[in-house]
Amino acid sequence: MGKPEALRRFPWLNESLWERAEALFPIRLPRDYLGDAADPADPRLRTALPDPQELEPAPDDLPDPVGDSARSPLPWVVQKHADRVLLLLTKRCHLYCRYCFRRTHEPGEGQDPTPEEWEKMLDFAASSGAKEVILSGGDPLAISDQRLFSAIDRLRTTIPTIRIHSRAPITFPQRVTPELVEGLKERGSIWILVHANHPTELTAPVRAALGRLVDAGLPVLNQAVLLAGVNDDVAILQELCELLVQNRVFPYYLHHPDAAAGNASFRLSPERGLALWRALRQRVSGLALPTYVVDAPDGSGKLPVSEAFAKARSS
Ligand code: SF4
Repeated sequence: MGKPEALRRFPWLNESLWERAEALFPIRLPRDYLGDAADPADPRLRTALPDPQELEPAPDDLPDPVGDSARSPLPWVVQKHADRVLLLLTKRCHLYCRYCFRRTHEPGEGQDPTPEEWEKMLDFAASSGAKEVILSGGDPLAISDQRLFSAIDRLRTTIPTIRIHSRAPITFPQRVTPELVEGLKERGSIWILVHANHPTELTAPVRAALGRLVDAGLPVLNQAVLLAGVNDDVAILQELCELLVQNRVFPYYLHHPDAAAGNASFRLSPERGLALWRALRQRVSGLALPTYVVDAPDGSGKLPVSEAFAKARSS
């Protein structure tokens, strides 16, 4: 959906807000994802549409919220652990989530690695000795099948496990084509990590896309972000986690929101997050309980929020 249609359909937006927000972080609105949502508080609209609050700096904004830059040996590559390498295949996404911690991240000049950067990135990962490579972005499913498969084939020679971290099955489920699924299935140990935050996102086409992946034997896990005004409610989290399990998706992580400039309106305190997660633990089975984690701003990686608290108290 383009700007003129969005401004007509969502009367609380205006041209100036759109342009100022878009200059900071792109705006892209898949029609099917938004469905018939019309209330500004709808979780899909709250996370997809620009908001005046994202234009204002907040005192606790961090320039590098998860400490990626100190762990980036070359453009488009992040390595925080010896056994894993993260590759940012593109900055493109089907939808630009307004809370995204990468909204201020600049791995390279353009939207995609240059041919030279692409080669160096793959060579680095293939010779790194890592056991897992994480294909991320942006959204790694925003690039073509051909480009994705060629990257996987290069990496596969030395890396036993490949993870694809993509929100496309949720925001643009038609991307999960039979050709994509078949190509992934043929290429062996590939894990798919999707990203749904709210049960409203698990529409029939989304559930069908997840089913295609699972039916092909690809393990599918979910990473949600705990977001103020979106899913900071134990009943919503319960419904999300149980629906995921019913659709054979493991609710792997619940992320504490990272403090990127522009996403302050989505943040909540770790105390509140822990209280919600503990309430969730009382309501769901172990199979439906995600680990509540925070990605440390010092670049050391993810830590359960309860441990991060204990560490902060003892230091
Ligand atoms: S799809 Fe992922 S990378 Fe893209 S904006 Fe959303 S959260 Fe960020």
